[in-house]
Amino acid sequence: MAYSYEAPVSQSLFDRASAVTPGGVNSPVRAFRAVGGTPRFMVSGTGPYLTDADGREYVDLVCSWGPMILGHSHPEVTAAVQEAVSRGTSFGTPGEGEVALAEEIVARIEPVEQVRLVSSGTEATMSAIRLARGFTGRAKVVKFAGCYHGHVDALLAAAGSGVATFGLPDTPGVTGATAGDTVVLPYNDLDAVRAAFAAHPGEIACVITEASPGNMGVVPPADGFNAGLKELCAANGALYISDEVMTGFRTSKAGWYGVDGVRPDLMTFGKVMGGGFPAAAFGGRGDVMAHLAPAGPVYQAGTLSGNPVATAAGLAQLRLLDDTAYARIDAVSAELRSLVGDALTKEGVAHTVSAASNMFSVFFTDRPVRDYDDARKQDVFRFTAFFHSMLEQGVYLPPSAFESWFVSTAHDERAVERIAAALPAAARAASEATA
Ligand code: PLP
Repeated sequence: MAYSYEAPVSQSLFDRASAVTPGGVNSPVRAFRAVGGTPRFMVSGTGPYLTDADGREYVDLVCSWGPMILGHSHPEVTAAVQEAVSRGTSFGTPGEGEVALAEEIVARIEPVEQVRLVSSGTEATMSAIRLARGFTGRAKVVKFAGCYHGHVDALLAAAGSGVATFGLPDTPGVTGATAGDTVVLPYNDLDAVRAAFAAHPGEIACVITEASPGNMGVVPPADGFNAGLKELCAANGALYISDEVMTGFRTSKAGWYGVDGVRPDLMTFGKVMGGGFPAAAFGGRGDVMAHLAPAGPVYQAGTLSGNPVATAAGLAQLRLLDDTAYARIDAVSAELRSLVGDALTKEGVAHTVSAASNMFSVFFTDRPVRDYDDARKQDVFRFTAFFHSMLEQGVYLPPSAFESWFVSTAHDERAVERIAAALPAAARAASEATA
């Protein structure tokens, strides 16, 4: 596919990057491989806008894949970071900032009695399943196809996000022994979970699920699915782990737990709670968390865990996320969903706008999408055309049909108008696209 616009500075940076970094990027989905073309190298961000190295401005609907829920360079977050940096950047000792962030998480999310801070969502899920195995003395982990929990070896089987984007069936480097303890089931299928517990009595340590998946595109849990998981886990002596790395502090003040109220045994967080810095966490039942070192025998650690700059950023961001902020994000999301849906309908493009609270994505199919198989049946080539048209017109979407779109409190009327103005041509491009 040829693109009518160019990005010479990004191209030359990408050439340099490709010489020293595999694929030219530090996280696969940034590379534009699924959509083609040159990834944009961004140099700055303000509010809902990003500016690339060629000086072009975009309305950002990726928001760093979720964290930038107040937009870029929010003055109060920036001030908190500057103040923290002025006192030093890492001490390798406990500090008050990490206590305050942990208290904020515990105060917002009732099932979290104790929490441990880490530096990435991957570490959070990896540590949570280790703890679940240590606590239960069992080996097997149930996960769902299309759910992504970071690049934890045991959780890379049939994963979403970049693994879905690139259609990777499995990842070389994950041994059979590691993958052998992972049971992968279709999402939204409680019968499959029941059957797995029956097939592996006394062997399943935990069921881990995205609280509401956003890594195969947005596919919310069917009514009663999370509650059913919780019940089946409780009945079979397994822990229910809700991965809220993406939904946490985004889909409501208390994340997806604030939406469906199903009480997990363990939860994982990241993205929003770091305010754009590497901070993540896992937490939950006090009796389970008590098994974690140094209180208990399950080892887990991190040189930069609870880093003072990251915790200052996260805390500043969370404290700004009040009811008004969530109302704003929900309203912008609803407006964009209806604008996108209308534009595609007008051009006769088969589509489904799928939402979970303020997270949403567009599937280029009019068949219902309940799981990963359904998501993969969409016309991805239409997304590609849609994506490039939007990019050319200054709207930055996730470069993949299998990712959530994210908005922020900074997406104001002007930003929405710019998106609205770009949609008719993008919908036309989607309609004219050929496989
Ligand atoms: N869990 C979920 C639901 C995610 O969406 C992600 C990242 O996108 C992760 C875990 C991994 O987080 P990180 O990329 O910070 O390692």
